[in-house]
Amino acid sequence: MQILFNKPFMTGREIDYIAKAHGIGKLAGDGEFTARCHRWLEQHTGCNRALLTHSCTAALEIAAILLDLQPGDEVIVPSYTFVSTANAFVLRGAKPVFVDIRPDTLNIDETLIEAAITSRTRAIVPVHYAGVACEMDQILSLAKKYNIAVVEDAAQAVMSTYKGKALGSIGDIGTYSFHETKNVISGEGGAILVNRPDLVVRAEIVREKGTDRARFFRGFVDKYTWQDIGSSFLPGEIIAAFLLAQLEEAEKITNIRLDCWNFYHAHLVWAQEQGLLTRPVIPEHAGHNAHMYYVLLNAKVDRQTVMGKLKQKQVNTVFHYIPLHDSPAGERYGRVSGSMAVTDEISGRILRLPLWVGLTQAQQLRVIDALLTSIQEAMSA
Ligand SMILES: *Cc1c(COP(=O)(O)O)cnc(C)c1O
Repeated sequence: MQILFNKPFMTGREIDYIAKAHGIGKLAGDGEFTARCHRWLEQHTGCNRALLTHSCTAALEIAAILLDLQPGDEVIVPSYTFVSTANAFVLRGAKPVFVDIRPDTLNIDETLIEAAITSRTRAIVPVHYAGVACEMDQILSLAKKYNIAVVEDAAQAVMSTYKGKALGSIGDIGTYSFHETKNVISGEGGAILVNRPDLVVRAEIVREKGTDRARFFRGFVDKYTWQDIGSSFLPGEIIAAFLLAQLEEAEKITNIRLDCWNFYHAHLVWAQEQGLLTRPVIPEHAGHNAHMYYVLLNAKVDRQTVMGKLKQKQVNTVFHYIPLHDSPAGERYGRVSGSMAVTDEISGRILRLPLWVGLTQAQQLRVIDALLTSIQEAMSA
């Protein structure tokens, strides 16, 4: 029996809520279900204003518009991340400046950020990799010192915290993803968390095609008009209905995932002591959401061989990211600040293990056994 890498979890309430949205008959965005999702997000994160988007990519694009970036402005990002983290800013004409990551959490190395700051730097975009918090105190104090914005790419970090605060609610702006590969899902989906009160009205306008439709709906203006640049960044009510069912179970989903994560972690101590692999590191002040369980293979082990052997044992694993600084568009649109040694090394060694709601401990034991055997076979080959 194949062990899948990912399997989207359905709570059971999605169809019920979709049927209700269908019954209400208002299928465009910003109806009752969207409002309930906004309320949930605002209550559970403490952000000033939450707005659903059709993806985290869209939320990052709104963030880039809100910052009024001009061509030639610079935005500090890790190279070890998904393309949207950089692409959203390149769309505004800004230049991503890539900074290396920490070898323990694989998050942007906060000690390297200051050296990347120039007179053109407008924002720092920490990515909370695997739902584990970046060093936000240090990042915020640098941002304050140089008067630059912080946009948290919290795509993977729904239900994670830093010193008790929800990730995404700490910087000027935060972004979430509800893509089917994340913890809480709606197929495609996302949200922007606007933490700075002065950005809220403009965020609503940019998200609604550059119009003040949101104020019109609230009765503040009697006609809605074109106010600003913007696009259609909002999901319809069917997606919001699906998402609400998921958000209501977010705590349960997170706890089940944490059980799986902790099971892998406890059962791979021996493998780490034997030098076969390195396990993830969770800093004391990070409350994580078990978005991902990855291992870093011993540098002498060929990952492709290990993955092939795992596949023969019917265990599906994946790796990511091809570092952005090394990719064709990254070379064209960005620049590196300093060495990318950790990024380059980690991206060659990382291996992600199956983790989803419904994965049994028996299956996890099979994954662990297959992994250790495969590594040993690869080492003796
Ligand atoms: C998944 C992800 C995104 C993109 O999310 P979408 O909702 O698919 O647009 C952006 N950044 C990071 C770090 C991600 O993991």
